[in-house]
Formats: sequence, structure tokens, C-alpha cells
Amino acid sequence: MDNIKIGNFIRECRKNKQMTQQQLADKIFVEAKTISKWETGKGLPDVSIMKLLCKELDITINELFLGEHISDDSKTEELEKLIIQAYEKEAKTNKKNVIGEILIGISLILFLLLVVIVAYVDMKGYLKNIIIIAVLIFFLLGGAGIVILDANIGYYECASCHERFVPTMKEYVWALHTPTKRKLVCPKCGEKTWCSKKLSQNKKSNIK
Ligand SMILES: [Zn+2]
Repeated sequence: MDNIKIGNFIRECRKNKQMTQQQLADKIFVEAKTISKWETGKGLPDVSIMKLLCKELDITINELFLGEHISDDSKTEELEKLIIQAYEKEAKTNKKNVIGEILIGISLILFLLLVVIVAYVDMKGYLKNIIIIAVLIFFLLGGAGIVILDANIGYYECASCHERFVPTMKEYVWALHTPTKRKLVCPKCGEKTWCSKKLSQNKKSNIK
């Protein structure tokens, strides 16, 4: 899908309706900066909001996908292609997320295994030192890697409004957390809640 084209189309339709970004935002329960993000092609409306957005702009979902007004059904083929592309992209993201989770699991098991070996297996002193150093290096490098990987996969769901979002690295690192939850400020409703980790942004296709 062509984000820029769709963004320009959203702006055009909004202006035709003589609404400001804030007015449109209020009508579909998002923030004005979200509208700005769409209009500048930096993001696409979530599936959950598309219907409402189209209703306010007086366009069809097909027109939104294409980023232009359609007067006949000559664009059907092009539309089908766009929809299939969107689904494939979502499926690919989910797969990447699952692989990330598995890698994190394996890394943690390996790390614990090394700790157990050092603690309980009887071996020569220098060998033990080598393993301790290896574990330390692994812990520092691997730990940083795991944090980056974990922060970049999946989404956190606000406990209050159920918005799914990706926290910034700074928020992620400093947030209080349990293995599956983090205390984060929701970008949509602004509340600080225990957000649970989700693999997909789309609520229906969530596989966790
Ligand atoms: Zn929220």
C-alpha cells in the first residue's frame, strides 16, 4: 500500500469536509497527532478505526486502501492485490515475532545451563574461570541483545483502553516489569498501567 498516497487522500477528504485534524481526531477518538501521522504517510490507520474514519470522510474502505475516489469497479484487481499484500505483511511480522520469542527462550536456557555447570560441576580452577568469563561476556552482550530484540518485537496492550503500542527503548528499559507485563504510559489514553505483551498489533490475529 502507498502510505503517501493514502495520507494525501485522507488530508484531501478531511479538507473537503472542512474539518481540522483536531476535529477529525475528536470524532474518531484518536489524537490529532495520529491524524498528522497518517496524512504525512508515517503510518496507516489501524483496522479497528478504518470503518469509523471512512464514515467521517464519506469514503469507502476500498477508496482508503487505494488512496483515491473510485467511480466504477475497474480497480477491483488492483484492490485485491493490495489486500493480499497487507495480509502477507502481517503474517510475516507475526512469524518474525515468534522466532524472536524462541531465540530469547533458548538464550535464557543456555545462560542458566552455564550457571549450573559452573556452580555444580567439579572442574579445574582455570576452566571454571574461563566459563565464568564466558558467562559474563554472554550476559553482557546477550543481555543487551535480548533487550533490543524483546523491545522490538510485539506490542504492549494498555490495560485501560486496550490500545496496542510499541514503547520507546528508553520507556521499555526503565519500566517496572514482570516477565509478561510492563508498567507503561499509554500513548492513546495517557494512563500508566500494567501493559501486557502481545505479538500482534491486530487484536483478531493475535496468536498469544
Ligand atoms: Zn490506554
